[in-house]
Amino acid sequence: MPARILLIDCDSTLSAIEGVDELGRLRGPDIFRAVEDMTNAAMNGGTPLQEVFAKRLDMIRPTRAMVSQVASQYIRRQAPGLASALAAVRKAGWTPVIVSGGFRQAILPLARHLAIGRVEAVDLVFSKNGNYAGFDKEAPTARAGGKPEVVRMLRRENPGAAVVMLGDGASDLECRGVADLFVGFGGFVEREKVKAAAEAYIHGFDELPELLAARFDAPGASSLRA
Ligand SMILES: [Mg+2]
Repeated sequence: MPARILLIDCDSTLSAIEGVDELGRLRGPDIFRAVEDMTNAAMNGGTPLQEVFAKRLDMIRPTRAMVSQVASQYIRRQAPGLASALAAVRKAGWTPVIVSGGFRQAILPLARHLAIGRVEAVDLVFSKNGNYAGFDKEAPTARAGGKPEVVRMLRRENPGAAVVMLGDGASDLECRGVADLFVGFGGFVEREKVKAAAEAYIHGFDELPELLAARFDAPGASSLRA
């Protein structure tokens, strides 16, 4: 059972892209712009996520083929220094888990690439011929308050574990006070609200191992729950 769980957001954190925006882009510039506006409104904290979630997907109607294109982009545009940072934090006892309001089928190849065994994200549903047929409306991360729900679920599964959340967006910031530490990520996008409220803030994965060591392994480190 992992004693240390490192939850990491996917879009604009593990990878430079916002997967849903890239899916929109595959449908042309008008749909891209409309989708991007809705994503920004949600991630900057102005609009509840569930208000844009179905709306974006209804506009895009992503096919299985579109999703696999975006899956390749996630890998191609992964954050600099990611692999070595993950190796270092694993060595310090952390188990990385991806927690994302993005789509599981698009994220799984990146997770496999990074040897991350668990992905909490939103399942898309496709028809037999690969057309869009909806999404898992029960997925916690498709709504505001979903990521803290995932933190609580992991705590129930791993009693006594330290839990850290790392991410760039308003939905990640919701984990502040629920996780032991919320770390904001500004490697791709700096969101003022998130930066101002984060308990720690980094601009690259190369800063992560040292930050976690300082907060959890230094003599007198107080972030770890007893
Ligand atoms: Mg994000």
